[in-house]
Amino acid sequence: MKTITLPRPPKVGLVSLGCPKNLVDSERIMTKLRSDGYAMSPDYSGADVVLVNTCGFLDSAKAESLEAIGEAIAENGRVVVTGCMGKEAEIIRERFPQVLAITGAHQYEAVVAAVHEAAPPSASPFTDLVPESGLKLTPRHYSYLKISEGCNHRCAFCIIPQLRGDLVSRRPDAILREAEKLVAAGTKELLVISQDTSAYGLDLRHAAWSWRGHEVRAHMTDLVRELGSLGAWVRLHYVYPYPHVDHVMPLMAEGLLLPYLDIPFQHASPRILRAMKRPANDARVLQRIRQWRAEVPDLAIRSSFVVGFPGETEEDFRYLLGWLEEAQLDRVGAFRFEPVEGASANALPDQVPDEVKHDRFERVMELSARISAAKLEAKIGKTLDVLIDAADVGTGGATGRSKADAPEIDGEVHLRDAAGFKPGDIVRARVEDSDAHDLYAVPV
Ligand code: SF4
Repeated sequence: MKTITLPRPPKVGLVSLGCPKNLVDSERIMTKLRSDGYAMSPDYSGADVVLVNTCGFLDSAKAESLEAIGEAIAENGRVVVTGCMGKEAEIIRERFPQVLAITGAHQYEAVVAAVHEAAPPSASPFTDLVPESGLKLTPRHYSYLKISEGCNHRCAFCIIPQLRGDLVSRRPDAILREAEKLVAAGTKELLVISQDTSAYGLDLRHAAWSWRGHEVRAHMTDLVRELGSLGAWVRLHYVYPYPHVDHVMPLMAEGLLLPYLDIPFQHASPRILRAMKRPANDARVLQRIRQWRAEVPDLAIRSSFVVGFPGETEEDFRYLLGWLEEAQLDRVGAFRFEPVEGASANALPDQVPDEVKHDRFERVMELSARISAAKLEAKIGKTLDVLIDAADVGTGGATGRSKADAPEIDGEVHLRDAAGFKPGDIVRARVEDSDAHDLYAVPV
């Protein structure tokens, strides 16, 4: 019998930098390339072409992106660049004239076309079929779900709107279809991401689309209610405290959504928030947090803060510390203000000296570690659900996360005597100990 020898599929290496949103883009690009017959290469040497998906959010991220491009050129030589830094093609071309092509963020067709040109696809697209959920770079049991792109705000320290444009929301039916496929393929946790999750659907005037026999509006509350019915954990990121956020509390209380909110407050001092041009800058936010916690007692709130923004006085900074004491947030990340090329904040007077920024950063981290430690200690003796991320066969232990912990940015739960559990399992466990960031527990 004559057998057909399939041609070797061309191999693509991938370096994905930056935030989870960029990772979602990388996943989309790789899904398309896989369906076009490409294989992935785990290393530079086996790749016919290397794709570098860059981040251009901060100057330090740009430097990291340039370094990654340089490394890919040195190790492989055939490099296509995409992502946020694609907007700054001249800088890349000047440093690395040998780069084969440069495309910007979300130009999926352009980057796929550039890869096709650099390493033409093999004649048989049957060699590597895409799994139902698309080819994922994150572990199978959790998935990022991007609901919109771009942002209508113009925060003084941020250049995302320049890089990615104004808000463009995806249709709710398209998001729900993707989410359904991910859950069918084994996803246990959907992480909803965008630049501004609360603004979802504004550009679509919150129009309704038909989904499984009923109508779903392009609105955050409608969308997350539907996502919550799919049977996976649903975690909301990048939520601004617009008034309608109050309406997701009943969904959390019902168990449709995880009792978790990631709200990037960035500061608390009204003066600095105004200077930052932050959205939903509401002085009554502490009162609302109290109200949310009354409705959802186990609500975990994570946030990030910028210290040393131009004009931030010691008084503004103390205001922030006092606010944090009151707010008792569960997880806090802090950043020292860094001028990003193109951001309007760079031109503001009264830039804060580096040593002052450093000192404030240390103080804010110290306070948030103390609050986090006390909150975690209060969980000792309680029983909670833990989603297993990794099992350690050697020790019989496992590492996972509770409903209060997002992957990569929050804490972990370390389980003892957890032999037999595998990533994606959800286990009831009793908390035995804690430290500033993590919990230690045993399955019950
Ligand atoms: S809300 Fe502000 S910080 Fe966030 S992407 Fe929009 S402009 Fe940037």
